[in-house]
Amino acid sequence: MTRLLRRVRPAAWPPQFVQAPETRASLRRSHRWSYVPYRSRAYYARPLARRHRIHHRHARRAHAVLWAHTERGGTQPERLAGARAQDRTFGSSELTARVLFPARVIVCLTLLLATAGLRPAAAQPRVRLIATGGTIANQATRRLTGPELIAQTAGLTPLARVEAETFARGPSLALTLADWIQLARRVTEVLASADMAGVVVTGGTDTLEELAWFLDLTIRSDRPVVVTGAIRRPGTVESDGPQNILRAVQVAVSPAASNRGTLVVFNGSVFEARDVEKVSTASPDAFGSRGSGPVGRADEDGVVFSRDIRSRHGVRSEFDLARIPALPRVDVLLTYQDAPGDLITAAIRNGARGVVVASAGAGAIAEGEARAVEYALVKGVPVVLASRVEGGSVSTDEVTVIKGLIAAGDLSPIKARVLLMLALAQGLRGPDLERVFREY
Ligand code: ASP
Repeated sequence: MTRLLRRVRPAAWPPQFVQAPETRASLRRSHRWSYVPYRSRAYYARPLARRHRIHHRHARRAHAVLWAHTERGGTQPERLAGARAQDRTFGSSELTARVLFPARVIVCLTLLLATAGLRPAAAQPRVRLIATGGTIANQATRRLTGPELIAQTAGLTPLARVEAETFARGPSLALTLADWIQLARRVTEVLASADMAGVVVTGGTDTLEELAWFLDLTIRSDRPVVVTGAIRRPGTVESDGPQNILRAVQVAVSPAASNRGTLVVFNGSVFEARDVEKVSTASPDAFGSRGSGPVGRADEDGVVFSRDIRSRHGVRSEFDLARIPALPRVDVLLTYQDAPGDLITAAIRNGARGVVVASAGAGAIAEGEARAVEYALVKGVPVVLASRVEGGSVSTDEVTVIKGLIAAGDLSPIKARVLLMLALAQGLRGPDLERVFREY
């Protein structure tokens, strides 16, 4: 044993089983100091007497390992952590450092947090924006696509998962009737996805009211289709497009908007497609409702509807795009002082399958027009009498002056044209034409 100890530190006598200061220092370096109970230099310097061996047998495990190691002649204590895990005791700080936040727990938490941020919330409604051009997309140098319109609209993320596609990028009048049918079919297709909350269609404001009414009559879904546009170009300080898109998406995800067909959202107002019309060429408050106000409002507090939609639309619409490959020509002729009738006859000779007269007052037409209307009816071309006046409707007295005339009620001449085109395309004639003008 003495020889053994001399090998450890031959110069020192009495032999030291553990060189206390050096050992503590090395233990501190390897963060294991806390396992080694403090003993004075004199304690470790004592020779290993027989009686001590008994004491050492009952020493704490950590201490015993240290002793055993030094007895084997090692100069450094063995790694205590490797002894037996159950022999280890932890202080509270050590428990925190070694058990609650080991590296792998921290890594797992980090990964979890990171993926939670990327994962879309399951409850978020899905909305598809379909861009068809117009001022809303008309930047100084080029026209924006659907995805670009989404990208420039702040505040969408908390509302919905908005996807976008580009149907067209020109002015509203560049869309043909064939484009309208294609667009309505596309919207119907998009709404066929069970998780699609609604569709937002952006487009030019000049004919937006006509497009909205066409979509209202042909998209047979209970989910909202919301049409919007802008008066001011994107990228300018007064640009109203982003705000209109935000409000349109808000309406598209609103449960209160379901079963209301196609709606037009503009400058925070919600209009029904049947009655909405452009009332200003320059103001961001560019839309109004013929004969009535908006049906609701959308603002930062939410979407509120103040009344129901009166007309037949959406799932209750009888107009089936599967049976409508194309729309026939229907012309609108305006009544004014001494209006001639030859424009009506010219329209019919050029292929019009129906005529709408935007009459004066409650349905008055000029003398020349009356003769042309009789000619049209003899030729089997239906003539619908609407009014160029914004409020009120066509009087039945005026309609009965000429047998066969159809009253548009309070439907605007432009909207009456859309309805007549659809009715004719679906093969409706005579009393059925009168019926649709009562029901829609
Ligand atoms: N000329 C434009 C259009 O209807 C007007 C607008 O979008 O406001 O395409």
